[in-house]
Amino acid sequence: MQKLFFLLALAGTIVSCRQPVKEQAAAAAADSTNSEIKIIDNGNVGFEKYFADKTMRLDFNHSGTSKEEHFAVDRIVSDGIWPGNRFVLIDKLELGPYFFEVIDKDSKTLLFSRGFASIFGEWQSTPEADKTWGSYNESMRFPWPKKPVTVILGKRDPQTNKFKTIWSIDVDPASREVNPADLVHSNTMDIIQENGPASVKVDLVILGDGYTKAEMPKFRNDVKRLSAVLMAQEPFRSRTKDINIRAIETPSEVSGVCKPHPGVYKRSALSVQYGIFDSERYALTFDNKTVRNAASQAPYDFMIILVNERTYGGGGIYNLYATVSADNKFADYMIVHEFGHHMGGLADEYYTSSVSYEAQDIKLEPWEPNVTALLDKNNLKWKDLLTAGTPIPTPWNKDVFDKYGYAVQKQRDSLRAAKVPEEVMEALFLKQYKQEDEYFSKEKYRDAVGAFEGADYTQKGLYRSQLDCIMFTRHIHYCKVCQRSLIRVIEQYTAVGPGK
Ligand SMILES: [Zn+2]
Repeated sequence: MQKLFFLLALAGTIVSCRQPVKEQAAAAAADSTNSEIKIIDNGNVGFEKYFADKTMRLDFNHSGTSKEEHFAVDRIVSDGIWPGNRFVLIDKLELGPYFFEVIDKDSKTLLFSRGFASIFGEWQSTPEADKTWGSYNESMRFPWPKKPVTVILGKRDPQTNKFKTIWSIDVDPASREVNPADLVHSNTMDIIQENGPASVKVDLVILGDGYTKAEMPKFRNDVKRLSAVLMAQEPFRSRTKDINIRAIETPSEVSGVCKPHPGVYKRSALSVQYGIFDSERYALTFDNKTVRNAASQAPYDFMIILVNERTYGGGGIYNLYATVSADNKFADYMIVHEFGHHMGGLADEYYTSSVSYEAQDIKLEPWEPNVTALLDKNNLKWKDLLTAGTPIPTPWNKDVFDKYGYAVQKQRDSLRAAKVPEEVMEALFLKQYKQEDEYFSKEKYRDAVGAFEGADYTQKGLYRSQLDCIMFTRHIHYCKVCQRSLIRVIEQYTAVGPGK
């Protein structure tokens, strides 16, 4: 489990965006019974029967160590109108290391479910979690129930990758503990594109951090520029009419955000900071409630936080948010890559780092839709997309590519240690970008969907579907499997009638 941390801290290859469940100890949950509740799954229920048109936000504290985790309700509030779909309430994608279900308390009927990843889950794989406790505020958002419900939280069992209940809590919407008042917002909201009601569209909200009031014109330009980059990529380009984009202006008193590695300390409106888990280029905010309160001014399913910085950095957590440094030369790449983690639960497909690891014995199929352990060659999870006549595994010139990749990593580490200006690092990335293009142009299976060894921080034993993808290199293009995964998410949010 330290693997991910070292990759982040030492290699810093882009940024990680979800936690590696496979090597974690089984989750303990002393504060819940841990007994599985027998849930009645009748498929998607009628929205109006069970829910009001509001979002319930259950804020909770998620605490523990590498070996155990505990939960406590912080507060339960209204988060504005319900932005999600009313026909697809049950999450059949089952992505993410965590998964919550909302059931009717009396009948045990399944009403709503959603998968997600969390900062606590990532922190749990850092060496710090072996020595000390950590605590993070998180939220579960679901339509406002009319009657008492039970919220059941599951986490993947490291032995099976199946979800196992680690916490459950009853919520009575009539209780004095539940606050139905809507927050009164005073920030300015900008509509970037609006294509229809939130209930049948993917609703993206964009916030900014480290922008002063005087820099709001810049924020609006950054939003326009970077959302256009995202919308220009497939599958979003073809589905742009399915997507609403709104931006909320959240001015900071100072320009820029906190960057502990170079000793730049600031307090910005949303508390985004670099150096998360001591990785210089990993930028997140732990201030969940401030971010959620600001975002709830708009109906939203997904969230991007633009960071008013040139320093390379960002992060993307499934169903939480994605962050991007707006002024970096590779901001276009970062917004597309991080959004892939955030919206689609996509794994990183890259694996090179400056430290080498022993080959692992991979026994479980990863849950991420874009990597496979190839345990069953004939039943590949993207078998319907395979290019006819492509051998599995698919041969490619991996040794040459890896040798070059490791050399770049070394250079990158020494440049960073020397604290060179950002443009020196950008020049290195540009050189790498061009060299990789050249390598790929010579590959026999360069456009084929197959199974190429090397993915998800693992050189051997894990495979990606195509030679190139934005989850692998900085070339701005999702591979076919990543595109299809994102389309499946879009469909969950845009259904206009009851499904099967
Ligand atoms: Zn991909």
